[in-house]
Order: sequence, then C-alpha cells, then structure tokens
Amino acid sequence: MQPKKIKTGICIIGAGPAGATASIFLCRMGIKHVIVDAASFPRDKVCGDGLDLNTIRVLNHIDPTIIEKELSTNKKNFTASQGFRFILPNGRKVDIMRSAGNDADNHAKKPMFFVSRRFDFDNLLVSKIDRSVADVQLSTRINKITREGKAWVLEAEGPSGKLAIETDFLIGADGDHSMVLKHLGERKVDRNNYAGAVRQYWSGVEGMHPDNLLEVYFPKSLPLSYFWIFPLPDGKANVGYGMASNYIAKHQINVRKAFEDLIKTDPVLIPRFKNAQPQETVKGYGIPMSGNDRKAYGDGWMLLGDAASLVCPTSGEGIGSGMISGYVAAKFIQRAATQNDFSEKMFTNYNREIHKRLRTEEKVYRFVNAIPPRVFSFGINTILSTWFFKYWLSKKAMKKWINTAYTKEIEVKLT
Ligand SMILES: Cc1cc2nc3c(=O)[nH]c(=O)nc-3n(C[C@H](O)[C@H](O)[C@H](O)COP(=O)(O)OP(=O)(O)OC[C@H]3O[C@@H](n4cnc5c(N)ncnc54)[C@H](O)[C@@H]3O)c2cc1C
Repeated sequence: MQPKKIKTGICIIGAGPAGATASIFLCRMGIKHVIVDAASFPRDKVCGDGLDLNTIRVLNHIDPTIIEKELSTNKKNFTASQGFRFILPNGRKVDIMRSAGNDADNHAKKPMFFVSRRFDFDNLLVSKIDRSVADVQLSTRINKITREGKAWVLEAEGPSGKLAIETDFLIGADGDHSMVLKHLGERKVDRNNYAGAVRQYWSGVEGMHPDNLLEVYFPKSLPLSYFWIFPLPDGKANVGYGMASNYIAKHQINVRKAFEDLIKTDPVLIPRFKNAQPQETVKGYGIPMSGNDRKAYGDGWMLLGDAASLVCPTSGEGIGSGMISGYVAAKFIQRAATQNDFSEKMFTNYNREIHKRLRTEEKVYRFVNAIPPRVFSFGINTILSTWFFKYWLSKKAMKKWINTAYTKEIEVKLT
C-alpha cells in the first residue's frame, strides 16, 4: 500500500516544550505547518519537572492569564514555589526566597517556580496549539529523513500506517537524541557540555519546606554534581541526580548507582528517605548543555531546544530555554515566510539570539570546570553561605528576574 502523503511548507518534528512553543507562535502568525510527535499526549519525559522563570516568561507571552488562571489554580497538576534551598556539602541549609510581604512591586506574590510532571505540563502546551492552523500529527514517528533537491522527505509511521511528509523547511525539535541532528551529521556528545542525570518519583520524603522550595543538594563525596528534591502536587517529590559527563568519564561513575547509594548512605539524605517509597524504577537521560554553540540553522532547516543543545549549564534547566528558542525561531520563520526565502542567510543571527540569555551561565560553568573539584566544594560551602550572596540573590537578583519574567517582552533581533 502506498503511504499517505502530506505536502507542507514547514514541518516541526517534536512537540515537547520547544516544538510546541514554536507551533503555538507560528499559529498566532497564521503560518500553516505540520507538527509531528512520536508520542501521544499526555506522555512522560525524564526530567526534574522544575519550571523556571524562562518558562514563566514564555507562558506569559502565550497568554498573560495562564499563570494565574491555569497553573496557580490547578493544584492537582502544578506546585507553586517561592524559591529554592541549597544544601551545602557541609550540610548547611541556605534558603533563597523573596520576602513577599515587604516587596512593594506588583509581582511580589507571584511564584518563582512551578513543579509539574512533564506528563501534565507538555500536554497543557500541546493543547494550546491552534489546530485550525497547524496539522498536528501525534503517535507518528519519523523513521527516515532524505533530501530531494531543496525539499525534505520524511518517512513516518502513524496510527493509520505509513506516512510520507514532504516539506520545504524542517525544524528539529526532537530532543537530545534528535534525528534531524543525526541526519545533519553533527550529533557528537561533547562531554564538556553534557551531563548524565537520573530521576525517580517518590512519596513520603520527609522535611519538605512548607513554601515548596526546590531543594538542591551538593554531596560532599561527589563534586560537580547535584541531587535534587522538587515538591510535586499530592505530597510526592521528583528526586534526581545529575553529574557533568567529563567527570563521569574520568572517574568511571555510574550515576544511577551513585544516586541509589546517596539515598541509602548520605547522612543528609538518610533521615529524609527513611519512610519514603519510590514510585517507579530509576530513569536516566542525557542533558545537552549550552556552551559549544552547536550550529542550529542552515539552508532549509533549524534546530530548537535540546536538539540545539540549549540547557542552562549551571542549573540543568532546559524547558524554558527550549521554549525561548521556539519563540525566537517563530520570529525568524515569520520573516522568511514574508520574504519567501528560507535560505541559510535568513537565519544567520538565530544562534546569537538563542544563546544570548545563556552566556553568563556558560562562563560560570567553564570556570567551575576549570577548578579542582575540592576547590569547587570549598567554594560552594563558603560563597553560598555568605550573607552578601543571600542578600544579593533574594533581594536584588530574584526581584529583577521575576520582573523580567512577568513584564518584559522577549526581545528578538533578526539583524
Ligand atoms: C533527569 C533530567 C532532569 C531535568 N530537569 C529539568 C528541570 O527540572 N527543569 C528544566 O527546565 N529542564 C530539565 N531538564 C531538561 C529538559 O528535560 C529538556 O531540556 C527539555 O525537555 C527540552 O525540551 P525539547 O522540547 O527540546 O525536547 P523534548 O522535551 O525531549 O521533546 C522532544 C519531543 O520529540 C519527540 N520525538 C523525538 N524523536 C522523534 C521522532 N523520530 N519522530 C517524532 N517525534 C520525535 C519526542 O517524543 C518528544 O516529545 C532535565 C533533563 C533531565 C534528563
């Protein structure tokens, strides 16, 4: 039987946060396209489930009422959080949260983070795609990509069998194991800008903060890594552990085993988990971090999110930066569509625009990697516990970040 054929100007592979965001904004611009995902939504994705201020910022662009009316009221799927707690290698706790009562600004009580299972969050985003503009093909896996002249031919398998999609412009938003990236021949794991991480959902973790702080613990025994406990709705927690890949390779560390050992043997964690129950087996996945400026555009193609290696290297957060890349990509595509020119030169500044908000974190990460691990632990113990650091973060930096997320337009310079 001949495969069903679809012909389109633009096709996005992947409806995770990056691809769904690009689709939502292309729909707003009235630009028709096809978006394909191998999964049917809702679907799980191995993640810490922490939604940062970049995520909140893009959500505010999608709909300024979404935080107040959909996330804050939906306590079944979203936990609102006012800040984070560092647990230092020496066991000391440092809480960074805004003193909401003293702030005079309008955004004082607005959440700094949300935690939501990707099962729920990604489904919410996909539901925001306007299906009168976008042709949404779910449960449809792209198995092969070929280029015929200027056009791309995608061989797919969907719920009603084989499908052939022919497109002029191809967008790879298909995550860390991106097929589009593999097709372009550029998927090499760069250990200096990559991390290995695991996640496990738990119930009954003790000592969670009443204001739902996201907890980040730097274990003394294993530098260049962090353990997290993020509060989920219904009293459960997303628990996980991530480590820089160059350190994993150098010391032959099994991250899954290190995670399980920490829960059983680390003095900071033993009391937290003594009555807790895992809800699933430990699941692992890679984190492609921003830092190597992977070329994310070319003649007739573009990469977004993890496929473009855009995870913030200091926090491990890639949902928000992936969504920003989706927003930025839509702006570049809008110009290309207006001029009917999808050649490489139309996207020359795309890399600059998707990386510009990550430059400081890239520098900090390079610095941290260059210092000996023992100095790293010493630095964390001393710097993070100083009065000045806490004051700067909670009174100055957080206020600025929150203001940006809730009020500032995402600036995209096309030229
Ligand atoms: C353990 C761990 C913890 C993390 N914690 C956090 C956190 O707390 N906060 C945060 O912001 N980030 C976190 N991240 C990073 C975050 O998960 C990613 O950066 C984010 O998911 C990137 O979104 P994306 O849309 O680029 O890709 P994805 O979310 O991976 O979506 C890609 C989509 O493409 C689809 N797809 C793939 N291949 C095909 C194909 N051949 N055909 C059709 N469809 C296809 C997939 O089904 C998927 O839906 C974490 C990552 C890991 C591994």
